[in-house]
Amino acid sequence: MHKRFRVQVTLRVAAIAGLAGAAAYLVWGHALYLPAVLVVGLAVAAAVSLVRYTEKVTRDLTRFLESVQYSDFTRRFTSDGRGPFFEDLRDAFEEVTSEFRRLRAEREREVRYLEQVVQHLGVALIAYQDDGEVGLMNTAARRLLRTGPVRHVEALERVSDDLAETLRTLESGEQAMVRVEEEDRTLQLAVRVRRFRLQGEPHALASLQDLRNELEEKEMEAWQELTSVLTHEIMNSVAPISSLASTAQRRLDAESDGTPLTADQAADVREAVGAIEQRSEGLINFVDAYRSFTDIPSPEFELLEVEDVFDNVTRLLRAQSENQALSLTTSIDPPDLTLTADPDLIDQVLLNLALNALQAIEEVPDAQPGHIEFRAHVDPRSRPVIQVEDNGPGIPDDVQEKIFVPFFTTKEEGSGIGLSLSRQIMRLHGGSISVHSSSGDGTVFTLRF
Ligand code: ADP
Repeated sequence: MHKRFRVQVTLRVAAIAGLAGAAAYLVWGHALYLPAVLVVGLAVAAAVSLVRYTEKVTRDLTRFLESVQYSDFTRRFTSDGRGPFFEDLRDAFEEVTSEFRRLRAEREREVRYLEQVVQHLGVALIAYQDDGEVGLMNTAARRLLRTGPVRHVEALERVSDDLAETLRTLESGEQAMVRVEEEDRTLQLAVRVRRFRLQGEPHALASLQDLRNELEEKEMEAWQELTSVLTHEIMNSVAPISSLASTAQRRLDAESDGTPLTADQAADVREAVGAIEQRSEGLINFVDAYRSFTDIPSPEFELLEVEDVFDNVTRLLRAQSENQALSLTTSIDPPDLTLTADPDLIDQVLLNLALNALQAIEEVPDAQPGHIEFRAHVDPRSRPVIQVEDNGPGIPDDVQEKIFVPFFTTKEEGSGIGLSLSRQIMRLHGGSISVHSSSGDGTVFTLRF
């Protein structure tokens, strides 16, 4: 292109020079004035063409450079049949602009991708500049602070002055706790800020996490469940004790006036005291049960053959079940699988699960024959896993949430201790217990070691 420009210019300059020379020759050599004027006219035309040509090139280059400056790559460049030089310039222009367009599309795609990731994150994020202008606030942040889109950190003063101040002043890498009190809730926010420079400009990225929500809600729920179960159990025992005691007292008060008790009244008092004794024993048993799972002995670990453990439990289970049709199966893969555990405690867990399974099956006596299966295998991390499955009625979702809460039971004679005790024992073994069940579809308890 550069060469072509030189040729074009040289041709015009040569034409001007040649024509000027010819005019001089006509005037001084032959005194032909009229043809000389014609030749000079041609030279002027060549000069005009030279000027136009360079102007056009300059204009096109200027347009191109403006496009670059304003990143306007939608403009098309036309050569309008103005010769090969313009076509070359147009081709180069198109090449460069299409490369720019491609790079820009790629960058936009990357930005959009990252934006999606950030919006999707569960952690609340706010990115802002040093002057407080907010560049990005993800969905989690808007939901946590209950705000719409925010343009400036100052706008967060509506949520909390402390929060806005912390975002402005917290040093990079530091963490601060901010308490936000609202009418219907209190947030305990852990705020972290990371400050960095982007193309020389100071930016900050803050993450917010509500610790109160995360921890306390679960803890509160557990406490509430436990309290309601305890209250229920204790009231069941104490309310009759209190009313029986006042009956007995009334009878005895009558006697203190000097009138001896009739045989009937004496029998009433005796009955009331007997009932009080019985109820008190119930309460003592309950407290003992409570103690049984706060005082679990530390496990004494041994290497156990899973086969032996299963044999033991199925034997005990058969002895307990009156149901002759009950089918019990075991499967162990690999057959010589071993696990490290306290044998008594593990027997207790498996027996709890097995008895629950037995009771579940007996709840629907006319349905399909009862079946309990004990399975053992190793998980992908080579840890032993034991499962106990029954084909009983299953556990409804709302009940499932509570079955590991101490004293929670749906059975008239139940203690609600079995599963919470089992969970404690599994924790002491560094393992876990979980349930998978849907109403009407049997139940599987899984122990991981
Ligand atoms: P309990 O057996 O004394 O009620 P648990 O802690 O062992 O106490 O069990 C709590 C509750 O979990 C039971 O009352 C029952 O509702 C439910 N549950 C446990 N295992 C099963 C099972 N295999 N099938 C159906 N429900 C079960």
